[in-house]
Amino acid sequence: MTFSRRDFVSSIALGALGTAAGAPASATEALPKQRMQAQAKPIIVSAGNGYEHLEDAYQYLKGGGDTLEAAIKVVRGPEDDPNDDSVGLGGLPNEEGVVELDASCMHGPTRRAGSAGGVRNIRSMAQLAREVMLHSGHVMLVGEGAERFAVARGFKRQDLLTEESRKVWLLWKEAHADWWGPGVADPRWRERLHDRLKSDEGAAYRQRLQAIAQDLGIDPAVREAAIHKVLFPPTGTIHCSTLAANGDMSGCTTTSGLAWKIPGRLGDSPIIGAGCYTDQDVGSAGATGSGEENIRVAGAHTIVENMRRGMTPFDAGMDALKRIVRNYNGEKDRLLYVDMTYYILRKDGAYAGVSLWTGYEPGRPHTIAVHDGTRRLEKTVSLFEGASQEWPPIVAASKVNL
Ligand code: ASP
Repeated sequence: MTFSRRDFVSSIALGALGTAAGAPASATEALPKQRMQAQAKPIIVSAGNGYEHLEDAYQYLKGGGDTLEAAIKVVRGPEDDPNDDSVGLGGLPNEEGVVELDASCMHGPTRRAGSAGGVRNIRSMAQLAREVMLHSGHVMLVGEGAERFAVARGFKRQDLLTEESRKVWLLWKEAHADWWGPGVADPRWRERLHDRLKSDEGAAYRQRLQAIAQDLGIDPAVREAAIHKVLFPPTGTIHCSTLAANGDMSGCTTTSGLAWKIPGRLGDSPIIGAGCYTDQDVGSAGATGSGEENIRVAGAHTIVENMRRGMTPFDAGMDALKRIVRNYNGEKDRLLYVDMTYYILRKDGAYAGVSLWTGYEPGRPHTIAVHDGTRRLEKTVSLFEGASQEWPPIVAASKVNL
């Protein structure tokens, strides 16, 4: 199996902590690992892919820097990294092969918010969300208008599709995969599952993917990983919430959204209250995972409001996850296609990372990166044990040996 750089960093950091990847993470077992004490020092929490970028931001925050600037310093790392294919430069494109990015931010001290969605050719999306907040009378700009606003504000246009991402997109395209048809929330959802491929056909299909990948010149070292991205269209995002010693808080979320999405599709990341929400009287929260599900429960806002009513960060996050479960009447065979992780920071420094499933695949748990003087990566606490599957299912999970 080929590891992306993000997987590699995660496994190194988890290894250093002595936390066995794939170990059960039942809510009760892992609960004590979630910090519950108040503290008067700065703290930053982010999705696991922020781990490498926490140090500078923490030092900046400790030196009295602005909380939103600190959060943007963290997310800029993956945004600028061509090897992180879930955010910014190198993000996996939409179904037409065009990278479209989403981001939002909230600045606690001024109680302001900004967001930009479906933006092409601009890589620093969190910064663009901040520009919308500071230099327009609006909160949200989308598409071409947002791109032109960015250029007017001095951002450089840039082709965000890397050669590697373009080849994986072509592989997906040639495999005739698509996002059209009923989604997992549709009563006809099972139609997507109906033996699209019988097990022997599944093997043949993988062979065909191998052949196309070879034709496309996809490096053998990353060929299996590329096929995996076609069979299980990846999502990926980074959220970061920050708390300064003086109590200021901010948050931001930035993403390339769902791989192979229909052009114009917006997920939760640019939606204030879904992908990101901060009220420094209470706390800050953000999300990665199935954007459509998170929009339906207004996840980040729900969590902050739960904390306002006295819930711990952990309980507040679990409640939001249970609202998603309720939306599916608890049907686990459908929830299997839903992935959601929340990163939660309370104004007293208490924090939690919670997710619906343990990880995307066995041995690859969801993580929250934390810096409060000590930088670390922790496994999130999951509501259900096991790995989620990606939607739409091109090959039923049980029929592929990944
Ligand atoms: N939430 C993002 C979206 O739906 C994707 C992700 O976080 O994986 O666009």
